[in-house]
Amino acid sequence: YTQLLLNANLHGWAEDDQEAGFVDGLRAGTLPALVKTRDLGVTYTRKGRGWFARSELFHALSPIDLTLYEGECLGVIGESGSGKSTLAMAILRLIASHGSIVFMGQAIDGLTHKELRSVRQQLQVVFQDPFASLNPRMSCREIVLEGLEIQAPNLTENEKASKLNSVMLEVGLDETFLDRFPHELSGGERQRLAIARALILEPKVLVLDEPTTALDRAL
Ligand code: ADP
Ligand code: MG
Repeated sequence: YTQLLLNANLHGWAEDDQEAGFVDGLRAGTLPALVKTRDLGVTYTRKGRGWFARSELFHALSPIDLTLYEGECLGVIGESGSGKSTLAMAILRLIASHGSIVFMGQAIDGLTHKELRSVRQQLQVVFQDPFASLNPRMSCREIVLEGLEIQAPNLTENEKASKLNSVMLEVGLDETFLDRFPHELSGGERQRLAIARALILEPKVLVLDEPTTALDRAL
């Protein structure tokens, strides 16, 4: 299995003209940057020990500069507790951070939650633990369609159904899954569902926080 992984194409894009074009664009500096962070850092306040202890500051993420270009697959490696999830949550504006975050040319670090709404569709996430992020009372169909109904309310039923079918096909879940509920799915199937829910919105950037930990290796 390890050998299989080592031999795999780890570039994240097909080895063809597209790749050559990407590398040329990167060299020429003409590729648009999708995400650009400058001095992005996160400090958590933790309760100190003892009765009269003051809360302590914990630097979970030291200021980091990163740039993600269109067509690029950017991986972040680090041991458990090194701040990978914290980085993802900060870029997604789900936790407080300092420093700047520019998404598709727009500074999003100062935006209010309301102003962020239009950004959310373009910036999707799949979390490590799929079960925690799936509403147990919603069927798979409802879960995958929920975001689409909010972000694209003008779609016809036919358009929604066709988007739903193609995204489910893409993640390898057939139509028999549509009326099932999260508790009736295996860990890997739940993760695919979470991926389908993110992909149906056709985001510009997909943040994956260890999305394959629950998957069987065939996917
Ligand atoms: P990783 O995803 O790389 O395993 P995390 O980003 O989840 O790491 O965590 C980075 C560090 O921040 C860890 O030491 C963790 O204990 C700490 N941490 C995470 N969330 C909080 C929080 N809400 N409050 C305080 N500390 C936190
Ligand atoms: Mg993590």
